[in-house]
Amino acid sequence: MSCTFCEIARGERDAYKVYEDDDTLVILDIYPVSKGHLLVIPKEHHEAIEDMPATLLKKVWLVASAMAKLYRKELRAPGVNVLNNSGRAAGQIIFHFHVHVIPRWEGQEIGKHTRHHLQDDEARDVVASVKPFASKYVSELLSSSMK
Ligand SMILES: [Zn+2]
Repeated sequence: MSCTFCEIARGERDAYKVYEDDDTLVILDIYPVSKGHLLVIPKEHHEAIEDMPATLLKKVWLVASAMAKLYRKELRAPGVNVLNNSGRAAGQIIFHFHVHVIPRWEGQEIGKHTRHHLQDDEARDVVASVKPFASKYVSELLSSSMK
């Protein structure tokens, strides 16, 4: 059975990446609900939150938190949603665990109606604004979690 996120993790499928390390990958959601909507993905395949090993689960949430912090502090987002959908009933569409990081911008509502197909110029814009800071925010948070 093919898995979109496993294919991306193995480099067999293209994605807009803003961060990558040995265990995790951060890509742009191809159907963002707001500009800058990111997905944090473990490289190892686990279907949902209840299947995730604790150490990897912690790492993914720390990376997601670092992205949220980056949006708040570096890109001045007035808010950010960090969430996981586990199970079809919760809206999970790709059955490979992932955490959504959805920056909120002033005066912009989000919802099903704001989901749109990611355009190349929007994607390039987001990558250019997030990628330069991603490693710094992740490594700061990971190192502080070791203390
Ligand atoms: Zn997978």
